[in-house]
Amino acid sequence: MSETEAQKQQLVRCIRMLENSGIMDFNGHGSIRQAEDRMLINIGNCQRSRLTVEDICTIDFDGNVTDGNNGKPPLEFHLHAGIYKARPDVAAIVHCHPNWSTILTTAGLAYLPVYAQGSLVYPLPVLDSPNSINNRDMAKRLAETLGNRPAALMKAHGAVTTGESIVDAFVLLNYLEDNAYRQYMAQQVGKSYAFSDEEMALCREKLWNPGLFKRTWDHYSAKLDAGA
Ligand SMILES: [Zn+2]
Repeated sequence: MSETEAQKQQLVRCIRMLENSGIMDFNGHGSIRQAEDRMLINIGNCQRSRLTVEDICTIDFDGNVTDGNNGKPPLEFHLHAGIYKARPDVAAIVHCHPNWSTILTTAGLAYLPVYAQGSLVYPLPVLDSPNSINNRDMAKRLAETLGNRPAALMKAHGAVTTGESIVDAFVLLNYLEDNAYRQYMAQQVGKSYAFSDEEMALCREKLWNPGLFKRTWDHYSAKLDAGA
């Protein structure tokens, strides 16, 4: 199997796992950077729960399809292009509209690091606009908001995570959303605890680890296979 084929399969798996766990709905997209100004990305009009490699196309940073004939990229492909241009270190990106983290920005609440894995994306910048990232200007604004961080929220819209691999982007999105859920629930019954700088430093040291990221990926992968 070629490396591109393997990456397509990994991207399909990522999106199906996110859909299966309720983080991604009928929108949402993931991408993997290819040489220079290309990326693999799922087509916009596809069933995320039944995604196959046929639904993955290759596009350039202007959205032109250079490989794949099943459909067009999502309108928000600009989000991916803008971040890849600004961040040479980023090799994969996921964007969707998950409930809990989006509720926080809709309500104007700051994301707090309330559990260990969730602290890995803290501080989490917020784009101050709910508009779709469907043009270059919005993509530039988002990339500027993201800065050198691995993830960002977009006010009353969604979340974006990045990484050196699609595993990173997938895992960080799970941690981020789980943290937002825990924060929301804690705030229903009291004042949620937020980790101190020292506690977060310890979390980063122990938890930002390829082996643990893979374990998280494998957990969701097994659930997908089990139909759970
Ligand atoms: Zn969006």
